[in-house]
Amino acid sequence: MAQERGLDNFTILTSHKLILPAMRALLESGDVPIDGFLCPGHVAVIVGADVFGQIVREYHQPCVIAGFEGPQIAAALARLTEMVAQGRPALENLYSQAVTPQGNRIAQQLIDRFFVPADWEWRGLGMLKGSGLALRPEFARFDARNRFGLGATKSLAPQGCRCGDIITGRLTPPECALFGVSCNPFARWGPAW
Ligand code: SF4
Repeated sequence: MAQERGLDNFTILTSHKLILPAMRALLESGDVPIDGFLCPGHVAVIVGADVFGQIVREYHQPCVIAGFEGPQIAAALARLTEMVAQGRPALENLYSQAVTPQGNRIAQQLIDRFFVPADWEWRGLGMLKGSGLALRPEFARFDARNRFGLGATKSLAPQGCRCGDIITGRLTPPECALFGVSCNPFARWGPAW
């Protein structure tokens, strides 16, 4: 609509990410012990359950898709544990109320129409090839990064913050010296996003 109307006061600051490159980066990092993936239901609604089959086939890691309510997460963790114990990695969709094997085709077509994969910075993982979605060149004039010279997104953590290690599973939260001390529910030290 902005293009059709010739708007020049409309820009978008995108920060969309693709999950598979991040899963592959974790698996290929060599120092992150992973037994399986609790796959996010909101992502799977769009991309479809079958996408995660690549991880099962290529890395022999179990993947279970779940919603975000406590019982849904608990059920998915229980299923993952069973698969690990039985040594039978598979893809299982426990969120079939919302997630179909192929996902939301209309949303996928819209994403393809407006965005293109681009290298993107991730906290704890660094720059991952093709892991983000940038506006297609034909929409570059609506990209706030271009318009305002913002450059690529940088993942900055304050001094002492170990959240990159924590979200990648290298450390647990209490292993951060600031956890519960200068970083607590009332005074955040680490990044909020
Ligand atoms: S407890 Fe706070 S400072 Fe420590 S890793 Fe987590 S967010 Fe960063």
